[in-house]
Parts: sequence; structure tokens; C-alpha cells
Amino acid sequence: MSTKKDMDWGSLGFTFMQTDYSYVSNWKDGKWDSGVLTSDHTVTLSECAGILHYCQECFEGLKAYTTEEGKIVCFRPDLNAERMYDTAERLCMPPFPKDRFIEAVKQVVKANEAYVPPFGSGATLYIRPVMYATGEVIGVKPADEYQFRILVTPVGPYYKGGAVPIHICVSKYDRAAPRGTGNIKAGLNYAMSLQANVEAHANGFAENLYLDSESRTYVEEAGGANIIFVNKEGTLVVPQSHTDSILPSITRRSLVVVARDLLGMTVDERPVKFSEVENGDFVEAGLCGTAAVISPVGKISYNDEEIDISGMEAAGPVMTKLRNTLTDIQSGKIEGPEGWVVEIA
Ligand SMILES: *Cc1c(COP(=O)(O)O)cnc(C)c1O
Repeated sequence: MSTKKDMDWGSLGFTFMQTDYSYVSNWKDGKWDSGVLTSDHTVTLSECAGILHYCQECFEGLKAYTTEEGKIVCFRPDLNAERMYDTAERLCMPPFPKDRFIEAVKQVVKANEAYVPPFGSGATLYIRPVMYATGEVIGVKPADEYQFRILVTPVGPYYKGGAVPIHICVSKYDRAAPRGTGNIKAGLNYAMSLQANVEAHANGFAENLYLDSESRTYVEEAGGANIIFVNKEGTLVVPQSHTDSILPSITRRSLVVVARDLLGMTVDERPVKFSEVENGDFVEAGLCGTAAVISPVGKISYNDEEIDISGMEAAGPVMTKLRNTLTDIQSGKIEGPEGWVVEIA
């Protein structure tokens, strides 16, 4: 039993705090080395490293937390391993083996056990795997050396007093090109979204909603979260992209299983026109991602139009039910599908 750090877990924000160890493995001469834990939290790079010039970089995000019985677990790390594998391939980076990814996550969380927040605090240990080109390039081509690293940092509960509805806006910018990189988790998708993000916040919105950039007709997703809807019949409507430019959120895919198999709901995964939102077809909406699980969407603004979804008073009943069911599975309160909750220590 390790001693926990003396921290006010409940008042942690979503900011970086250095912990004891990170995991690091290097790709050189055509192979990954065996990988080690390191207490060195800085990275020294050549000024000509591929990451600095052509942005060969990708990342993941998942969390470890303590269950009611005091076990440290994480949620579906196999899907993060798989998504990072696919992302790396798309960026001509050597994918990190999936089994080693899961082992590395376990190793680095165990080494930082003292930073895993206790059950009931609402806080979690955020796990951030990241991979970048360290090899030197001047001409445009993939680098020949890479680093894979996992850092962990304790973060506070996303919502301190339960899930509060948010007001989002349709961005005048596009997030991802048709058949581009919208479906992979790469930093480059975020670099170009920062201006849109800053503007949305300055205008009083919590997040941007992006339309498909080919026709600006269909709903795609938010800046860092997928969106799901509930229609008047109680069906869960999940936007699909004609141009494969929605990031495959693990939270969204898990919620689809929860809705269909555990709650017996009808789930409709299909392209969703923004006009359906404007017509008032949806009575609830939510943004889903690892950080908040579901953020209920109360209102969506589009130019001067303000569309009321379920209002700003409280989360709707379906989003509440979905969120509670998934968080109960994650915390071990109810049993979810096999393999979803993976024990670390
Ligand atoms: C990470 C991410 C999400 C959420 O994915 P989860 O696996 O549920 O955390 C959604 N959209 C984008 C663009 C993302 O980068």
C-alpha cells in the first residue's frame, strides 16, 4: 500500500502537475527500444527534429482512477492503443505495439500510484501518451527516429457539482478536411482549432460545433468531443461522417453500447443534417469525451440564431441516465461489458 500524496484532490483543476515518473521509449534503427520509466520530465531535441518542422506528432488521453473497493483501474485502454496505432500509421510514424502500450500504461500508473486520486474525490489520474518525430529532417519526408512517451498528471473533476448544461456555437471555421486527418488524434488538428476556440470562448460559448467542411450541411463534432442527440421518440442519434472526418471517440462508442445493450434504447448512427437541429427535432444533446464523459448541451447558436435544445436549467433525462450508467460502470458500481474496466493495481 503506497502512501497518497497530501493533496486537496477535490480542488484540482485540469492543469499539468509533474509526477514522479514518465514512461519513455525510442524508435531508432528501425525498432522500438525496451522502454523505461524516467524521472526526467524534459525532452531535448535537435533543432531539426521532424516534430518541429512538419508536425509529425500524435497523442492519446485516458484516465486511471480508484474504484469503491480501492482498486486502481483504467477504462478500455485497448481502444486507446488501437487508435494511437491507426493514427501513427496515418502520419507515417512507426506504430507503438498495442500490447506494449497497455503494459506501459500499467507500469507508469503503478509507479505514480501516490498520485492516483482516492475514490469519491471525483479526481482522476490523466494519462497522456504522446509520440513525436525526433529524427532530423529538412526535406519533406517522415523522420527516421521517434519518441513515445507517457506522462501522467492528477486532474480534478470536470464538473464539481454535477453536469451543467453548456451553450455552444457553430464555428465559422472548419475543423478537418474531407478525407483529411479529422479521424486521427493528432496535435495538428488542434493547432488550427485554437483560434476558433479562443473566439468561441471570447463570445461566451463553451465549445465549437463543426459542420462537415465539404458541404457545411451535416453535423460533425465539437473541437475535442463528439456530439450525440436524442430525438422526440427517445432514439439516440449519433452523427456519422460521409467524409470520415469525425474522431472515433471511445466515450461515444461506449455510450452507443450502453444505450443499445444495457438500456434497451434505439440507436441510429447516421449522417445528421444541421437543419434537423434547427427544426427542433432533438430534445437533448451532449458532448462526449474522456474528460467530462457527457457535457449536456443546453443551447446551440448559429450566426444570430439561438436554438434551444434542452435549456440551460439542467441536463435532460436521457443524457443524465447515459452518463450515470457509464460512470457507474467505470467506478465498478455496476458491471459493464467484459474487458471495459482494466485493473492496474
Ligand atoms: C479525443 C477526442 C475526442 C474524445 O475521444 P474520447 O476517446 O472519448 O476521449 C473527440 N473528438 C476529438 C477531436 C478528440 O481529439
